[in-house]
Amino acid sequence: MKQIYALFFLFLFFGCKPETKLTNMKNKIVIAHRGASGYLPEHTMEAKVMAHAMNPDYIEQDLVLSKDDVPVVIHDIYLDDVTDVTEKFPERQREDKRFYVIDFTFDELQRLNVTERFDPKTGKQIYPNRFPKGKGSFKLHSFQQEIELIQGLNASTGKNIGIYPEIKNPEFHHQNEKDIAKITLNILSEYGYKTKNDKCMFQCFDAKELERARKELKSNLFLVQLIEFPEETKQLKHFATYADGLGPWYKQILDKKEGTRWQFTTLVEEAHKLGLKVHPYTFRSDQLDEFYSFEEMMQVLLFEADVDGGFTDFPDKMVQYLTKQ
Ligand code: CA
Repeated sequence: MKQIYALFFLFLFFGCKPETKLTNMKNKIVIAHRGASGYLPEHTMEAKVMAHAMNPDYIEQDLVLSKDDVPVVIHDIYLDDVTDVTEKFPERQREDKRFYVIDFTFDELQRLNVTERFDPKTGKQIYPNRFPKGKGSFKLHSFQQEIELIQGLNASTGKNIGIYPEIKNPEFHHQNEKDIAKITLNILSEYGYKTKNDKCMFQCFDAKELERARKELKSNLFLVQLIEFPEETKQLKHFATYADGLGPWYKQILDKKEGTRWQFTTLVEEAHKLGLKVHPYTFRSDQLDEFYSFEEMMQVLLFEADVDGGFTDFPDKMVQYLTKQ
């Protein structure tokens, strides 16, 4: 009997932990943008494992279909800025000089080495102080492989870290007779992500396709409308008819700085009035632009602008910052 009580108290103690964390973090969520991409090449399994160890709320996946319809975790429809495809398959280059994920089977894609992101024209890596380009041994993987990794780590660590998949360029997929939304939603459902209570947020820049996910494909997931251009901020009411959240570029939230205080656009306030959560992208401590420190960036956006979370290449830094609040 004593043992049962001990187990019960252990359960209470550890079971309460995530809730304590939530309270400390004032319900603001940390999304590991392409994994712990500030430290390891983006979207590699290694970057996802490292992210998981940093305790974000969600880990992000960008998805593009292979020739044989496998959703591959990669940021763009191109391969030539994160892999050695030009050396391994020079003959697959299209007229526009690019190499497309969709031209390769999943087996072929697995033969490529993944590296830190670089400019294919100059060969220079985009973030000079990150993981050195060309070093290490990294591979591409499928969406299913990553879900199994995250669910497996959740099981072995007792955590419940969510997934935050984005379907890339659905229009391009349709032109190639591929339905990336349908394929992705089916896989999510098979792995237990079906409703807003499941730890999954589904995102897309293409408003038509996200609306289709809700209305035609009948998804009950938490849907996040990503936006990029100023004119899209005028369509919030429409977005709220099918989406639960908004993923703006963080600069769409900033207006101007008066003295030492930032003034904000009405975007967050309007989105909140419509019941939309706001998760801006991207918090990067090595690309601060208008901010003098990463701490200032987090303070201004997370607390003064009062967004509900954010995408970051440095999940450890955002978790640590929010835990201190
Ligand atoms: Ca993304």
